[in-house]
Amino acid sequence: MNSIKLKSRLGKIKEQIIETANSCGRNPNQIKLVAVSKKHPETKIEEAFYLGHAIFGESYGQEFRDKHQYFSHHDSLTNDLIEWHFVGPLQKNKVKYILGKASLIHSVASEKILNYMDQRARRDGIHQDVLVQINSGMENSKHGLRPENTLDFLRKFESCTNLYCQGLMTLPPFFDDPEEVRTYFKIMADLKNDLNSENLKNVNLKHLSMGMSSDFKVAIEEGATIIRVGTAIFGPRD
Ligand SMILES: *Cc1c(COP(=O)(O)O)cnc(C)c1O
Repeated sequence: MNSIKLKSRLGKIKEQIIETANSCGRNPNQIKLVAVSKKHPETKIEEAFYLGHAIFGESYGQEFRDKHQYFSHHDSLTNDLIEWHFVGPLQKNKVKYILGKASLIHSVASEKILNYMDQRARRDGIHQDVLVQINSGMENSKHGLRPENTLDFLRKFESCTNLYCQGLMTLPPFFDDPEEVRTYFKIMADLKNDLNSENLKNVNLKHLSMGMSSDFKVAIEEGATIIRVGTAIFGPRD
């Protein structure tokens, strides 16, 4: 893919975010676009960066580490300006690559990982913002908490010292028709509202991370504050 194509794809997505937000009475500036660059080379991230986009999401621990290192060694000026997000499943042995390097980790979904990350963050003096992943479609194949277990899980942040829950994330079931995903986005918006009134320590549900290439418009209509778009920006992955 050449950079002209990347430029027009990125521009189109940004236009669609503005149009969709305006049409449902939301402020487009309150919707953050994470360009999901997993399985695409650093050169594409660089191109997108020089086109004015600076928020990138990665899904795999080692790939996150390699890309972060690439930019801090070869282009540390750029790395200082990039906001890295981690959106993939968390494994204990990969946490060290991500903690303190991602400005937001979207995918905390187990007590074991939560405690491990908090301990490690405390040891290293890192303050880490995270989201809790919800399995809104209650699919066996997906990570995340069942909506009804979310409150109990959020209570565990009260005994954390270095992790802060800033919101909820979901990867809903896939449908060809994005309208069918709307009910899962509504579940998320309701959950965020209900749980915010609990006023838990270290929990401030500002963000709803939901919506990808095929369904981000519906997600925005239902209250997404962060959308994660890969294919529609970078093209198909190998
Ligand atoms: C890959 C991925 C995305 C981006 O998906 P596209 O359909 O390519 O836009 C978003 N969120 C997560 C968690 C992903 O793993």
